[in-house]
Amino acid sequence: MSVETKQMPAANGGVIVAGREMPEFHQIGVEPLTGACGAEITGVDLRKPLRDEVLSEIMTAFEHFLVIMLRDQDLSNEQHKAFSRLFGELTELPQAPIYAGDRLMQEVRREAHEPASVVPFTKFHTDSPFLMRPPLCMVMRAVDAPRYGGDTAFANMYLAYEELSEGLKEVLERLRVVYSGKDIWSKNAKLDKDKQLRLRETHDFKEEELENIHPAVRRHPRTGRKALYVTPAYFKRFEGWSEEDSRPLLEYLAYLPHKLQYQCRVRWKPNTLIVWDNRFLQHCGIHDYANERRHLVRTTVIGERPL
Ligand code: MN
Repeated sequence: MSVETKQMPAANGGVIVAGREMPEFHQIGVEPLTGACGAEITGVDLRKPLRDEVLSEIMTAFEHFLVIMLRDQDLSNEQHKAFSRLFGELTELPQAPIYAGDRLMQEVRREAHEPASVVPFTKFHTDSPFLMRPPLCMVMRAVDAPRYGGDTAFANMYLAYEELSEGLKEVLERLRVVYSGKDIWSKNAKLDKDKQLRLRETHDFKEEELENIHPAVRRHPRTGRKALYVTPAYFKRFEGWSEEDSRPLLEYLAYLPHKLQYQCRVRWKPNTLIVWDNRFLQHCGIHDYANERRHLVRTTVIGERPL
């Protein structure tokens, strides 16, 4: 291998993962899932109060890896919400079914006899981009998981953006996207009964809260690092473009999270808990299983208006 092509070690001899030098961790175990994103955290029991130094390292791992996973976290709903609030204020979503009658919890549920179509978005997407302040992160825990299959895949949209050519980056820098959730119920009602998604039936959101315009490239509010923020879910058009004109570029951008080198997968087991950054990752549930129940419950932390 020539000097030019060899991966240069970071200044302190550290390892590059998720596109940046990996921070050091002293309080918790951190094992990256892939070179692109995701890490398993060990040595933490979320039922107990977290020491400041431990919490600080969990937050560092979350910012670096974008999705963190902890096994064997048998939390009550109150414990689940308490941990979630460390990331920010909780919110409900107009379309996501609530869990256990608690408006601050949602569920993704597919019963053993149900088809994959009952779960919204089995393609890569970001959640609820039609809101003015889309979710910052989700804290999700498995109640039931298939023995094999039913993983959730994630794609690092910083990496997807950073590897684009400069010409396309310039085009995207000026683009904004119209996202709308206004017609999801009416569209769903037109489908055959066995093809319909499980949506929340009533909510208090106003019609105008369900459509917003966001930049195609968004920035992390603290670091300024840029990521692609375009997904076909709830996409209407690029601002100033017709739907027809928008489609070819959208299709190309929607293909990017499928590149394996941007991805990691979380394999669920009962009481596996993850926190994923909904701003800088796209995700998708993989419905490669049959005749088993998959039940994931979660909270949603409200994010900043995309910058
Ligand atoms: Mn989703």
